[in-house]
Amino acid sequence: MKALRLIALTLLLLCVALLAASCGDEPSGDGSADATATGSGAACAHAAEADYTVDVPATCTSVGSKSYHCVLCGESIPGTEVEIPVSHVRSTSYTVDVAATCTASGSQSYHCVLCGEIIPGTSVAIPAGHVQPAEYTVDKAATCTVAGSKSYHCTICGKSIPGTSVTVPAGHVQPTDYTVDKAANCTYTGTKSYHCALCGVKLPGTEVTIPTTNHNPSAEYVIAFAPTQTTPGQKYKVCTTCGCVIEETIVDIPPDPNSPIN
Ligand SMILES: [Zn+2]
Ligand SMILES: [Zn+2]
Ligand SMILES: [Zn+2]
Ligand SMILES: [Zn+2]
Ligand SMILES: [Zn+2]
Repeated sequence: MKALRLIALTLLLLCVALLAASCGDEPSGDGSADATATGSGAACAHAAEADYTVDVPATCTSVGSKSYHCVLCGESIPGTEVEIPVSHVRSTSYTVDVAATCTASGSQSYHCVLCGEIIPGTSVAIPAGHVQPAEYTVDKAATCTVAGSKSYHCTICGKSIPGTSVTVPAGHVQPTDYTVDKAANCTYTGTKSYHCALCGVKLPGTEVTIPTTNHNPSAEYVIAFAPTQTTPGQKYKVCTTCGCVIEETIVDIPPDPNSPIN
């Protein structure tokens, strides 16, 4: 680094000296103290800047150029020019060029924000694919004894999406109401159960007991013993369903019709 700085300083001094010489006296051709003189007369020896300077900016469609400029005279140093290639300005997100369909892939790429053209080498494929819905479609309804199937159908083309088919197990359908298998009465409990809504078969494990009902008392009393002047009578009602006695009533001794009225 020290060596470079020394060389640059030497060149600077040389340039100043040469400029002074050209402006003032005729060239003396002295040069005794100048070990690096090139003999090119008044021309700047040029010392390159650290970085390139853009001379012609590149655009989307035309190349540009840049070169090293001289730290002394500012001129572009001949022979240091290099081309700046054509350069688009890339967008930050993809643009869909060809939309994918259920069966054909599409493509997307980055476009130039300046000219809108596709930037070469940025195009990528968008895979073809069906769009999966939220709900299954029943392809084959299950019955009480035969399994069915269902699958997702594409929301765009409606076709069953391959690989999404699942089995719908066979099975009886539980009804909303019980079926009475044996009616209860005042003496015996009954039973009821679910029967398949499709085939009517009694579904195992669904049977429940129906409790006994109340007796159905007869409308009229049956007289067991009519009351006499000395003994009370008795009457009762019977159940019209099962015949059992369900209500007994003692009938008091009637007043003596021969007794004096008070
Ligand atoms: Zn120069
Ligand atoms: Zn462009
Ligand atoms: Zn589709
Ligand atoms: Zn069934
Ligand atoms: Zn009864």
